Amino acid sequence: MSSVVYFSSMKSNYHKSPLNKIKKLANRAGITDLYEKDEIVALKVHFGELGNTAFLRPIFLRPILEILNRVKAKPFLTDTNTLYTGMRTNSVDHLHNAMLNGFNYSTLQVPVIIADGLRGENSVNIPIPNAIVCESAKIATDIANADKLFVVSHFKGHEMTGFGGALKNLAMGCASREGKMDMHSDVRPSVNAHKCTACGRCKIVCNWGAITISKTATIDDKCTGCAKCIATCPETAIQSDFDVSCDMLQQRIVEYASAVHSHYTKPPVYINILTSIVPACDCHDGNDAPMIHDIGFMSSTDPVAIDKASYDIINQTAGKDLFQEAWPHLDPTDQFKHAERIKFGSLEYKLVDVDK
Ligand code: SF4
Ligand code: SF4
Repeated sequence: MSSVVYFSSMKSNYHKSPLNKIKKLANRAGITDLYEKDEIVALKVHFGELGNTAFLRPIFLRPILEILNRVKAKPFLTDTNTLYTGMRTNSVDHLHNAMLNGFNYSTLQVPVIIADGLRGENSVNIPIPNAIVCESAKIATDIANADKLFVVSHFKGHEMTGFGGALKNLAMGCASREGKMDMHSDVRPSVNAHKCTACGRCKIVCNWGAITISKTATIDDKCTGCAKCIATCPETAIQSDFDVSCDMLQQRIVEYASAVHSHYTKPPVYINILTSIVPACDCHDGNDAPMIHDIGFMSSTDPVAIDKASYDIINQTAGKDLFQEAWPHLDPTDQFKHAERIKFGSLEYKLVDVDK
């Protein structure tokens, strides 16, 4: 069965604010029916790594927050700590990063909560419907415990998945560090002996007794892959070995996305922002020029359909597959193929242009 995806073009005259378009899209997707008084709503975004300028513009969230406040829901902005070491590895640095990039109370009048705890240790397991490659999804506690979820995604390219949109934001974006490790790696993290000073901090945080310290730290096969030690090391000597193939990574992402999507009593509303469509992820501390001009905005309650519609409209406008061209070593449509395999969402959609 096909899903409905609402679209509003970036094209406009100068009297029409793009913010009104986002408001219209949120309303058409059913925001006032799906979110209710006193419900705590996790508004999932990606704050963008410090130095990147392509990430979601905070002001695009204002019309959504206005509506959620009007229905007297209790929204909070959220993201999760990263698997790699950077400015978003622990909640303290992450909040600094978010504030500096404009996601703060003085700009948006909404609390900001990093959903998986100080060092990404707060994780709950939730079931995955029709799972084939994962056992369960390890999701950030404060996202799983929210009454509802609302997902706003900057649609752009991605070096390991071809593109990143709603599915990736739901999966990698809502997973705890353990969940990210689960998707990215089949092996335990490794220690860079040249960087390790044998300080022993990683051994203290490892609940599984998997770390021994002699001249350097070593990790043995008692390791469960919780990834807690990665954020603890002051020398950034511990890293995940991102060893999973791009097609397997995409399959795991889709299964995690399916788990998060079906976790709530009503489906989340998804908004995709099709502006600053750069080749790579907003996790980098820099970015390339956009591959195409700004296209507009979409909304839906089906994360598969909205990503397929976003992917299609960008490539139809370009007259070629920009994502495949940017990342020829992978197939960006693997996410769609696996969604179909596990009967998650719909690849068929009806695109409704709300400008008409
Ligand atoms: S925390 Fe880092 S530097 Fe300290 S022992 Fe562990 S790996 Fe080595
Ligand atoms: S990943 Fe977790 S279990 Fe493995 S060594 Fe690090 S802290 Fe211990």
